[in-house]
Amino acid sequence: MIEKSVRELSADLHARRVSSEELTRHFLSRIARHDGRLNSFITVCEEQALAAAREADIRLAEGRAGPLTGIPYAHKDIFCTEGIRTSCASRMLDNFIAPYDATVTEKLRQAGAVMLGKTNMDEFAMGSSNETSYYGPVRNPWDTERVPGGSSGGSAAAVAARLTPLATGTDTGGSIRQPAALTGITGIKPTYGRVSRWGMIAFASSLDQGGAMARSAEDAAYLLAAMAGFDPRDSTCADRPVDDYVAHLEDDLGGLRIGLPKEYFTGDLDARVGACIEAAVKVLEGLGVVFRDIHLPHAHLAVPAYYVVAPAECSSNLSRYDGVRFGYRCENPRDLEDLYKRTRGEGFGAEVKRRIMIGTYALSAGYYDAYYLKAQQVRRLIAADFRNAFEEVDLILGPTTPAPAFRLGEKVDDPVTMYLSDVYTIAVNLAGLPGLSAPCGFIDGLPVGMQLIGNYFEEARLLNVAHRYQQETDWHRRRPPGFD
Ligand code: GLN
Repeated sequence: MIEKSVRELSADLHARRVSSEELTRHFLSRIARHDGRLNSFITVCEEQALAAAREADIRLAEGRAGPLTGIPYAHKDIFCTEGIRTSCASRMLDNFIAPYDATVTEKLRQAGAVMLGKTNMDEFAMGSSNETSYYGPVRNPWDTERVPGGSSGGSAAAVAARLTPLATGTDTGGSIRQPAALTGITGIKPTYGRVSRWGMIAFASSLDQGGAMARSAEDAAYLLAAMAGFDPRDSTCADRPVDDYVAHLEDDLGGLRIGLPKEYFTGDLDARVGACIEAAVKVLEGLGVVFRDIHLPHAHLAVPAYYVVAPAECSSNLSRYDGVRFGYRCENPRDLEDLYKRTRGEGFGAEVKRRIMIGTYALSAGYYDAYYLKAQQVRRLIAADFRNAFEEVDLILGPTTPAPAFRLGEKVDDPVTMYLSDVYTIAVNLAGLPGLSAPCGFIDGLPVGMQLIGNYFEEARLLNVAHRYQQETDWHRRRPPGFD
C-alpha cells in the first residue's frame, strides 16, 4: 500500500478495494511506529483524520469523489488549520489555534484529502536544515545523523519515509526543492501567485509560495492541481486558469530545448552531484530533449540580494507578534515595553532574531537606499537573466543543492555556509519563477536532486519533463532502509 501512487490509491478507493479509513489508519500507524526516529510531525491529528476519512468514504460511496478524495496528506505547520494548532515551529505560536483555515487547507478539504497532521519545519520557515524548529530537529530517513534540509524538512522526511503519500510545503528561497533533493523526493514550487498565500503564515511575502511534495512528479501533479488557483483574498494571487497538470504528464519531449547554466556548474558544486546531473541529461536526450549551455550572469548575486530582501520583509511581517493579539506572552510584564521585549525575546529563536535585526537595519533610514533598494535592483537583474535565457530555451536544468545532506550540527554555527546550501534555488524565488526538484541519483547512500526551472506558469511543463524522466529511471522509487 505504501508504494502505490496517488492514481493507484485513488483507483482502489473508487473501486472500494480499500476504504479511506483503512488507508488513513495504515499511515497513522506508520507515523506512530517510525516518527520517533524522525520527528517529522509537530501534531498528529488522529481523530480529525479518521473523521475526514469516514466522510471521504461516504463521498466515494455516493459517487461525489475526485482524485484526492480519501487520500491522506501531511500539512506543513505554516498553513492555518481551524481548531488545530498552527505553530510555525515557533514558541511564539506554540499555543496558537487558528480560528480559520488557510485557502490551501480549505481547498484540500474540499477535494476530500485527509490531513494526517502538521509537519515540522524551521521556525517561521527560516532555515535550510530544520534545526531551527522549537520542537527539535527533523532527521533525514536516509541517515538519521543528517539533516533532511529545510524549511519543509518535516514534510520531506515524512514523504520519503512513506509516512504519508503527499505533503504540502512552502518555498521562500528553496524550502520545497532543497529538502526534496536531500530526502530523495519530488517537490514543486509553482510560479509566485499560483497558490494562494491566504492563511499561510508570512515570512517574506514577495517570495513565499506554497507547493507540493510527493514521491513522484505524477503524485505532485495531483496535489498541486488541488492547491492552485485564484483566490480573491490574496491580492498577489494570479487570476488565470490552472493548467491541467495531470493531462500533460505524458506529453512528448521531442525538440524541447533545455539550458544548462554555466554558472551552476563550477567548482562550488560537488563533482559527484555534477556527474548525476550529467547522467540525467543523457536520459533526457534519449527522450528527444536538446541541451545547450546558457548564462545567468548575475547568479552569484542571488544569495546576497535574498539575505537583504527576505530579512527586510520578515522584520515587518513578524512585528505582529507582540504578545498582545495572539501567541506567546511573557509572564508578569512590568509595563508595555517590558511586555514587547520579553515576549519577543523569549518567543523567538536565534535565527529568527538574527533576521529581524538584519532586516530592521537594512530598512532603517540612511541604510534603506544602500541595502534594500540595491537588493531590489539586483533582483531585477536576476529576473532579466532568466527572461533572456527563456528567449533561447524552454526550460533550465541544474543541480538543486551543491552537495547531498549534511550532518546535524555541521552548519548551525555558521549561518553563511548554511545560507549557501540554497545557492541554486534562491534566484528562482527572486524572479518569481516555478522550480521543481526530482531525484536523479545517490552518493554514498544519500539522494541527489536535479532542479528544473520554467518560465512563468510553466508548471505543467516541469511536471511533464520530471514525469517522463521518472518513467525512465527509478531513483524516486527507492525507499530508505529501515522504513518498511
Ligand atoms: N533557506 C532559506 C532561508 O533560510 C529559504 C527558506 C525558505 O525557502 N523558506 O531563508
